[in-house]
Amino acid sequence: METTSLHTTGSKQGKRLLEVRNLETKFYTADGVVNALNGISYSVDEGECLAIVGESGSGKTVGVLSILRLIQSPPGRIVGGEILFKGTDLLKIDDKELRTIRGGAISVIFQDPMTSLNPVMRVGAQITENIREHENLTSRQARQKAADLLGMVGIPTPAKRLDDYPHQFSGGMRQRVMIAMALSCSPQLIIADEPTTALDVTIQAQIVELIKSLQAELGTAVIWISHDLGVVARLADNVAVMYAGHIVEKAPVDELYARPAHPYTIGLLNSLPRLDARIKTKLKAIGGLPPNLLGMLQGCAFAPRCMFATQICREQAPPAIEVAPRHQVACWHSELVSAGERP
Ligand code: SF4
Repeated sequence: METTSLHTTGSKQGKRLLEVRNLETKFYTADGVVNALNGISYSVDEGECLAIVGESGSGKTVGVLSILRLIQSPPGRIVGGEILFKGTDLLKIDDKELRTIRGGAISVIFQDPMTSLNPVMRVGAQITENIREHENLTSRQARQKAADLLGMVGIPTPAKRLDDYPHQFSGGMRQRVMIAMALSCSPQLIIADEPTTALDVTIQAQIVELIKSLQAELGTAVIWISHDLGVVARLADNVAVMYAGHIVEKAPVDELYARPAHPYTIGLLNSLPRLDARIKTKLKAIGGLPPNLLGMLQGCAFAPRCMFATQICREQAPPAIEVAPRHQVACWHSELVSAGERP
């Protein structure tokens, strides 16, 4: 597939905060080169929530780890592209400068809080450590700020809970602690990598609501990584759909749900349960498996699983085209796909 360049302007019309251009990341393994990211481009404006959606192995997590240069090297390496954060290319700055951005202007919430929190360190010490690394506060001031943050994310009696260890919190509360840590240095961008996957649905909904309200209150931009289009519908301004290391479709959230134009996006939507369906219908799984990213793929990476595939799909990668304002798709037959017709 050709380089996919999909930019939309955030619906909140803030200034451009992050611009990722033609980002390419590869893993050099004993079996060969894994092409994990194949020239993805997207942008995030101040205050915008961009959801990046796709199955496991689509490259969505590698994409965000690349932003902060957290790809393990070797075997991974960012081999091309630019990551402009407020105009500065994060691929060109030194480690010291990058460390001030990581956990400062950009912070990350990972999927499993237990792997991100230190199990033998009190929660308060973990939050204050992060605060003091980035802000010039006394330990008393940092502790007060940590308590305020725990209170802000809905943890009762926050000052007391600062002295607890991570195992003394439930799964949902631990994720709230991670959100408090992510907020501790007033970031301009939060990257949330499947932050609700390990939680049950009611806690999941609470965390989504919490992020939404904090985003509205603080004006923080969010990149929300998920395999679940249902979760992002409640949260995102724009959605980018990833497949095999490419962005195959991007649009404002309402437009994407109303007029999906890539067969993979349609497959993801068809696999969602519908509460508004009057007749119970079986959920449809997308047939087949994602491709092996070892070596270069020819043509459209989705072709082996696509009911619309024709000869051109198997031979040439589709370019990204705009099918509606701020709605872009990389598919040779997107018009037919949208109309539900077979080529
Ligand atoms: S119609 Fe062709 S280009 Fe479009 S997703 Fe299917 S295989 Fe790819």
